[in-house]
Amino acid sequence: MKKVILGIFIAAFALAAQAQTPPASFAADFLDKAMRIDLYHVGDAKDETITVDQIYQEGIWPATYTRLIDPYDYGRTVVKVYDVASNRLLYANGCDDMYSEYRTTTPALNGVKRVFERSVRIPYPKRPVLVVIEARDKKNILHPVFSATIDPADYHIVRETTAAGDFVTEALKSGDPHDKVDFVFLAEGYTAEDKDKFKSDVDKFTAFLFTVEPYKSAKNRFNVRGVFRPSPERAMDEPRQGAYKKTVLDASFNAFDLDRYMLIEKDHRMHEIAAQVPYDAIIVLVNSKRYGGGSIALDYCVSTVDNERSRQVFVHELGHSFGFLADEYYASEVAYNDFYPKGVEPIEPNITALLNPGQVKWKDLLSPGLGVPTEYGKDKIEAVLAERQKNQKAQADDIAAAKKKGLPEAEIKKIQDGYAEADKVLAKQISDIRALYASLNDKVGVFEGAGYAAHGLYRSQVNCIMISNPKDEFCAACRQAIGRMIDYFSKAD
Ligand SMILES: [Zn+2]
Repeated sequence: MKKVILGIFIAAFALAAQAQTPPASFAADFLDKAMRIDLYHVGDAKDETITVDQIYQEGIWPATYTRLIDPYDYGRTVVKVYDVASNRLLYANGCDDMYSEYRTTTPALNGVKRVFERSVRIPYPKRPVLVVIEARDKKNILHPVFSATIDPADYHIVRETTAAGDFVTEALKSGDPHDKVDFVFLAEGYTAEDKDKFKSDVDKFTAFLFTVEPYKSAKNRFNVRGVFRPSPERAMDEPRQGAYKKTVLDASFNAFDLDRYMLIEKDHRMHEIAAQVPYDAIIVLVNSKRYGGGSIALDYCVSTVDNERSRQVFVHELGHSFGFLADEYYASEVAYNDFYPKGVEPIEPNITALLNPGQVKWKDLLSPGLGVPTEYGKDKIEAVLAERQKNQKAQADDIAAAKKKGLPEAEIKKIQDGYAEADKVLAKQISDIRALYASLNDKVGVFEGAGYAAHGLYRSQVNCIMISNPKDEFCAACRQAIGRMIDYFSKAD
């Protein structure tokens, strides 16, 4: 029965695909199909190698026929497709993977080589093409790290059906996949009996996403589907807790040995499951209450579903994977880091090193009359926060000493009250500074502190989902950047 229902869905997608004839500009070079190239990316901090595992022919090309070359220059790695006969660039798009992050870690710096999977999809070429993958150096300059000639007629290219009998659900249907942004949710750590829960989680997360701008205003430019493959066990691996679960995608916390960072290492399998529907971006839902998630830019994002903050984590992580957004949060003290070297403009659209204050990345969005950079009391607040921390430590020390001396409860209480009074004064100082700058909360400026660095990197607004925002709103630069990706993958009405 399941297969019959799936058959109807596939027939519907096929019909939708047939409803449109690709324009001559696309049809001259490509079939209306996707070519999936499964790669292995091997390396440490110094050396990297990319090799092909297998190439597949998949269903329709789900993105627009007309935007084939990324105009935004996104991606730490980029795939470029050239026509062999004419040397013409036919297609170019970012194709990041775990290696881009791994190379900055301590094991990689110590020369430990690891291997990561990555599936890259391009429109299916009609003639032999040269596929080149380029990676950025520390100055963000692209250098080729892989190239291969692919003959689309090669009989080694696997042309088996993409249908695997998994349950498919449609949460939002707006039109032909070529004209719309197509999101696909995949199930991770849901057992066979959790099928209805997955469907309702997809509906819940979809509903939440479209309460957030710019998704909200562009809802009719999206299709949202879910593909359900049951896992033998619920949840995911948590190596630091000694918890391991048998699941479809092998999602695991403690990626790169970080506490709340969860990633999927089985990129090939993830794409094979997603290929049962047209998709531009993958979202993996993990059936767990734990807090956390992760993402690989321009590939996928992953989030648990049952934590009270899960929906916010999902929209934040989707900001990375779909919008190519940087984190805007930072640790006080830290100035620059391996991820954003000093003196290099980050490639993400929502943070800037402000190397040329006359040419702010989001200059068309700036509120009039604000300074560049924009003073918002950050240094004053951080100085008071440091004072508070110092007091907390002193309080703990004093109380420990008093207890050691065997002072009576009343004396200890007196010490506590003294510190509480001092803390109240400091808290009032912070709220006074915040009040002084409160009018900036809805303004677009250039605010220092972003991309894990307290100094030298800037964001466009005080609050944003990419830093933390109780109002669940993106800043102006992020809204604009997501809007541009919606334009890239879909047709304006
Ligand atoms: Zn933002």
